[in-house]
Amino acid sequence: MYVAENERYERMEYHRVGRSGLKFPAVSLGFWHNFGSKDSYDNMRAMCRTAFDHGITQFDLANNYGPENGSAEENLGRLLEDDFRPYRDELLITTKAGYHMWEGPYGDYGSRKYLMASLDASLRRMKLDYVDIFYHHRMDKNTPLEETLTALVDIVRSGKALYVGVSNYDKEYTEKAVHFLREQHCPVIVNQRRYSIFDRTIEEDGVKSFCKENGVGIIAFSPLAQGLLSDRYLHGIPKDSRIAQDGRFLHSSDLTEGRLSQISKLNELAGQRGQTLAQMALSWVLKDDEVCSVLIGASKPEQIIENISAARHGKFTQEELEQIEEICKG
Ligand code: NDP
Repeated sequence: MYVAENERYERMEYHRVGRSGLKFPAVSLGFWHNFGSKDSYDNMRAMCRTAFDHGITQFDLANNYGPENGSAEENLGRLLEDDFRPYRDELLITTKAGYHMWEGPYGDYGSRKYLMASLDASLRRMKLDYVDIFYHHRMDKNTPLEETLTALVDIVRSGKALYVGVSNYDKEYTEKAVHFLREQHCPVIVNQRRYSIFDRTIEEDGVKSFCKENGVGIIAFSPLAQGLLSDRYLHGIPKDSRIAQDGRFLHSSDLTEGRLSQISKLNELAGQRGQTLAQMALSWVLKDDEVCSVLIGASKPEQIIENISAARHGKFTQEELEQIEEICKG
């Protein structure tokens, strides 16, 4: 029987999510890769135990994580049965709907019809009565936003989610959503967006400052740019890496000469700071309190252990920050 590490809460920092009463662990674990039907259950179980033993209290899912669609949620259900059911109240379990999930016009985007059915199916797969946060996964310009948001309000009122979030929403959509949901007294607390040394979109499109000014949390996904911001690819493409194992979203063509040179220089700088590149990349995202959690992926428990210490080395000198900007321009 799994018994969680006693010291787990001393190993992690917890940050308030916007102006809400909820706190996120500085590092959260995502189930996008390595939790599907073809992945090793023993490995995912070891990763989740390692994560929780080190104070990672948040597991992030979506209806379509797998492959197969839904299989990451099924595996979470199994992990709960095997290890985590006694710890349910110590865990944040989140899921989403918004990308393609099932055939036909009702299994994608943002209709009330899709969101309601999808969350019910997610809860069945995960063997849960409720999720902690339910997200609309992406903007849908063809569905009236009020329809999507009213579905979120009703989901919270039904008790199937405690809080709601939006994901991949730009500033205009975030602003409208937050305004509407707050008027309905619906606890919208977070926007889940991509953010890393290599992807500054939330700085450029105004989401980062909007969220800060309006008390909405930001959780940053792919903070390691899917593994590019680590030493993983410095000497070729390892057989067990995401590029070699899973050609869906990260490709060898992403490893351009320019990219590799940036990675190598950043790696050197991280070494001077006494960190690995992965740790520095996570510290960088967390450095100015606007991002309440970095949402990492992992393929093995050791990566999680390496990554969690990032939260404790969050200070950068002005010179280091400028060096990072220089490297990124190059
Ligand atoms: P990361 O940028 O953290 O990339 C994770 C990958 O990086 C790992 O699978 C591993 O790849 C590699 N890695 C991790 N730690 C290390 C390390 N210490 N040293 C070397 N390599 C390392 O995040 P993801 O892109 O996986 O996204 C994280 C989560 O964000 C997802 O699981 C999901 O929950 C969420 N997400 C949300 C999206 C949305 O639209 N809302 C979209 C995408 C993600 P390898 O296999 O090579 O070991």
